[in-house]
Amino acid sequence: MTWAGKNVTVAGLGVSGIPAARVLHGLGAVVTVVNEGDDERSRTQAAELEALGVTVRLGDGDTLPEGTELVVTTPGWKPGKPLFAAAAAAGVEVWGDVELAWRLRGPDAAPWLAVTGTNGKTTTVRMLASILEAAGLRTAAVGNIGVSLLDVVTGDETYDVLAVELSSYQLHWAPSLRAHSAAVLNLAPDHLDWHGSMEAYAADKGRVYEGNQIACVYNLDATDKPSTEDLVREADVEEGCRAIGFTLNAPAPSQLGVVDGILVDRAFVPDRQKQAQELAEISDVRPPAPHNIANALAAAALARAYGVPATAVRDGLRAFRPDAHRIEHVADVADVAYVDDSKATNTHAAEASLAAYESIVWIAGGLAKGATFDELVAKSAKRLRGVVLIGADRALIREALARHAPEVPVVDLDRTDTGAMSEAVRQAARLAEPGDTVLMAPACASMDMFTNYNKRGDAFADAVRELGASA
Ligand code: ADP
Repeated sequence: MTWAGKNVTVAGLGVSGIPAARVLHGLGAVVTVVNEGDDERSRTQAAELEALGVTVRLGDGDTLPEGTELVVTTPGWKPGKPLFAAAAAAGVEVWGDVELAWRLRGPDAAPWLAVTGTNGKTTTVRMLASILEAAGLRTAAVGNIGVSLLDVVTGDETYDVLAVELSSYQLHWAPSLRAHSAAVLNLAPDHLDWHGSMEAYAADKGRVYEGNQIACVYNLDATDKPSTEDLVREADVEEGCRAIGFTLNAPAPSQLGVVDGILVDRAFVPDRQKQAQELAEISDVRPPAPHNIANALAAAALARAYGVPATAVRDGLRAFRPDAHRIEHVADVADVAYVDDSKATNTHAAEASLAAYESIVWIAGGLAKGATFDELVAKSAKRLRGVVLIGADRALIREALARHAPEVPVVDLDRTDTGAMSEAVRQAARLAEPGDTVLMAPACASMDMFTNYNKRGDAFADAVRELGASA
């Protein structure tokens, strides 16, 4: 690809658009950035790019600039936008930031071990990077996790292998990406407003398997249709690439699984009919909740596909520390554990974390994003000591509780001020008994009350500390 003089339109300023514009300009392309917004912030960003010689058009994200030969889009832009229809009509390709990074890799670039799925991506990618590091490899956790792939592939640092988190949006716009090996962790309805349907969402996730060289890793225990195994079956892969399942049960040949509390590999062993390689103990995984064991198995499968020894899997898992607000144990107060899973912003995630504890006072609610709560509440009812509801859409959860868990006491907090979380924690403490867990896994987005899920988690942790101080 010759970049010099090529007319490239970058769709969207922001975290991926600005670096893309800079890199493309640096390569000699003639870059025009189009951006829907025309606010103060966009104007400042535009001025910085214009100073370099990039053209920026604010306030119109729909019209394709004359002469465009390639569009590089922010992954978040919906595929139905008129700009893309215009590009298709003109025979112009559309790439996302990940596709651009993929195309700009050097000749000896590090292979990618890719992870996608509805929930658990960040955790799995961090576990994977920790395992690869334990094996002495030069690696980094990159992509949707918040580290720009474009920076990594155009930077000075060299890597042996990359642990790459990819979102469904990024995959949608990455047609030529070919990973060494990839995993789809799970599939539950999410972002359907963007993709249009569950089928379209699953198809975009499934793209991560296209052209895999060594292994397509799928979740044997996630059998809802389409399953991750279906996606493997539909993918076109390199000859010799293997389908490797992971399960919380005992593994068959070509699978990773769990036997008597031990994570076991029956895929990457010399004789998979007869041999099983012990990788780590369940207690090496933090927290040892079922869904997190699944994340560890997926990370282990990718690392083993790359040829990492079993001891590095164990050492890497032991060294791994979960990111904040993901099933984070905040404190024990009066024999009750307080756990912050503010990152559980959808029902699938909340279901996983509720399954990890026996007796729970659940703090839930926020913005439902179109979700329904019947299945979640019905599955979790027997574990609930009580529930404290917060946020805009709490009535939806209250109604599901009335239908499926009518015996469970519910406190409905009708306030959204900054003290609301303290009140929620105090109410939860009142409902809890020694040995219980107060779990803030809201199954909803946070933006009705907080800037983001981090702030919601911080508010919870502060409230727990207040409670501890007054106990
Ligand atoms: P992602 O990057 O996909 O958003 P994270 O690793 O940040 O995933 O985890 C987000 C939340 O999803 C966690 O707080 C936890 O509640 C839940 N979760 C993590 N792993 C899984 C899994 N394998 N299955 C279901 N839920 C999960």
